[in-house]
Amino acid sequence: MHANDMHNKMGYVIATVCPLLIAPIISFIVIRQSEKLRKALETLKLVKDELEATNAKLFEKSSHDSMTGLLNREAFFNRLESVRTLQPCSLLIIDVDHFKKINDIHGHFVGDGALMAIAHCITECVGKDDSIGRIGGEEFGIYLATKDDTQVTAIAEIIRAEVNRMDYRTPHGECVRLSVSIGGVVDISTGAVVDHFQTADRKLYEAKRNGRNCVFIQSSLRKAA
Ligand code: GH3
Ligand code: MG
Ligand code: MG
Repeated sequence: MHANDMHNKMGYVIATVCPLLIAPIISFIVIRQSEKLRKALETLKLVKDELEATNAKLFEKSSHDSMTGLLNREAFFNRLESVRTLQPCSLLIIDVDHFKKINDIHGHFVGDGALMAIAHCITECVGKDDSIGRIGGEEFGIYLATKDDTQVTAIAEIIRAEVNRMDYRTPHGECVRLSVSIGGVVDISTGAVVDHFQTADRKLYEAKRNGRNCVFIQSSLRKAA
């Protein structure tokens, strides 16, 4: 037997046995690493989902009024600003009449309940494309997705009448009569929101001066004139 033959045999043994010995070990390591990686990715996805859910909850909390569940003032005006150029849009401001008296006579707890009942009542009167915000203590803003004078006045009248019709009672069963005054402006798609807000506010005070529990709307025809 030649030394060359020996070398060839050794080479053959090394070339076949070594990979056979090493391959399972390497495969085991690779499989374990990829399993670890898969689990890490799964955990990452769970963490990402939780973060997204927490973010959504935080956004919901920061943009809504905790008592009534309506948009808060800032979120309401942000929404108004973002949609008013994209679709027909009118603005109503609703102020509860003699609300201080309700607190004084029945207490803040009953006052809070009245605000929640009014918020619910307003929500029932508007459509899914409209938005409602609590823009002050006993003041609500409504964005209506229409620039039709008759429709805006009709919706405002329905809200006024429905609030006035409500059978709101104290925990002792005492009936508390509620009413709202409403000021509004039709078609706010152009111009500055702050100007439209002032116009609606002026209309609201006309309603207050007129004896409350009534609606005053600045029509689009009047504005154009
Ligand atoms: P007007 O018809 O002229 O609007 O009279 P008003 O009494 O409704 O108006 P005023 O501005 O004098 O009083 C508003 C009251 O609303 C005073 C304030 O204590 C009360 N108020 C504001 N926010 C809340 C609230 O979250 N809960 C309760 N219970 N009362 C509130
Ligand atoms: Mg007020
Ligand atoms: Mg008031």
